[in-house]
Amino acid sequence: MLVVHKYGGTSVGDLDRIENVANRVAKAREAGDDIVVVVSAMSGETNKLIGYAEHFASQPAKKEMDMLLSSGERVTAALLSIALQSKGFDAVAMTGRQAGIVTDDTHTYARIESIDPKAMHDAIEKGKVVVVAGFQGINKDGSVTTLGRGGSDLSAVALAGALKADQCEIYSDVDGIYTTDPRIEPNAKKLDTISYDEMLELSSLGAKVLQNRSVELAKKLGVKLYAKSSFSDNEGTLITEESDNMEEVLVSGVVLDKNQARVTLRGVSDRPGIAAEIFTKLADENINVDMIIQNMGTDGSTNLGFTVPESEIENAKKVMEAFDHDIAGMDYDEKVCKVSVVGVGMKSHSGVAATAFTVLAANNINIQMISTSEIKVSMVIDEKYGELAIRTLHEAYKLDK
Ligand code: ADP
Ligand code: ASP
Ligand code: MG
Repeated sequence: MLVVHKYGGTSVGDLDRIENVANRVAKAREAGDDIVVVVSAMSGETNKLIGYAEHFASQPAKKEMDMLLSSGERVTAALLSIALQSKGFDAVAMTGRQAGIVTDDTHTYARIESIDPKAMHDAIEKGKVVVVAGFQGINKDGSVTTLGRGGSDLSAVALAGALKADQCEIYSDVDGIYTTDPRIEPNAKKLDTISYDEMLELSSLGAKVLQNRSVELAKKLGVKLYAKSSFSDNEGTLITEESDNMEEVLVSGVVLDKNQARVTLRGVSDRPGIAAEIFTKLADENINVDMIIQNMGTDGSTNLGFTVPESEIENAKKVMEAFDHDIAGMDYDEKVCKVSVVGVGMKSHSGVAATAFTVLAANNINIQMISTSEIKVSMVIDEKYGELAIRTLHEAYKLDK
């Protein structure tokens, strides 16, 4: 069997943990599997490097940032390969480029365009364990690019697809996907399986256990994906196609995203094209807009609200200032969060949203914005009630049972 393993920052957080990963890889190798390992930077390393750059510039050049940040993953790949070699295993460390990963030019948020797996296949054929530095590739000009935060998950899934691996195992400090973040709700239950679509919603809505782009790609390529722990041998969670009995479960999980800020525009000119202008300008600045609410206009004006990642709020303010002739007033709130309820069962059952609103109301939590899709309900609330809301919703949908 050919298996791609991915070990995240906590799993390779110090030398003992890298040794632990080497032992796990060695065990799988001894059991007869061919292994390609993708590694993250040691935990905290990427943030440390960002801090170094920000010492010199508040907005450092993105090309240089990629050069800088890609180094964290290389350190781990080299160390893991050395650790394996010292245990008598033939191993080779590769950068993203050496693994054949070519991306577009979007520095710090590049998309993978192609992967030439030949070098990896050659090494595997020679009996080597291939250790690849995650989170990176090169563009057509040969410059290093990185894939966005949490991007080693994407590297692993993309390599599994290109290698036609039998499965891809993502190792972190939790032994699978839970009904909610077990750090917020200790009674969260581990799921045996979850559909790609539900997982995609959970990770897009803020569950960082898997990077959302990696889940999207796994679905597209049909990669058999597992979430497991590098600290135990517990069964993990399989992320897979939706099956018939999955719809019997109403709600699979609840998620908290604290990284949200709300923008409210009052007295917006109610004319065709205004929304297009506002959101095109935001998109031009690469500001990711999430929830959008617009009221019916009265007397030629309307109110428009939306959320952006907290880190983008200053940029969003700047963009909005250019619209002062079209907007009577604006306000901003960085102290909001988004709580979401996810489940494929919502497609065929009603009342899920009503339950959410009812339990939040019973706890005196005011809902500022609501958005829904076929399989999720999201609500923006005051940040200080985020964790309480998660625990309350978790209980209301009996996810601890
Ligand atoms: P890594 O550093 O290995 O990439 P992450 O820190 O990105 O790992 O992801 C693991 C963390 O995801 C866990 O420690 C857990 O707190 C968090 N998490 C959030 N939501 C969930 C969930 N629904 N199930 C499991 N873990 C979750
Ligand atoms: N080291 C990168 C990050 O911290 C990528 C990853 O860990 O997946 O975002
Ligand atoms: Mg991660």
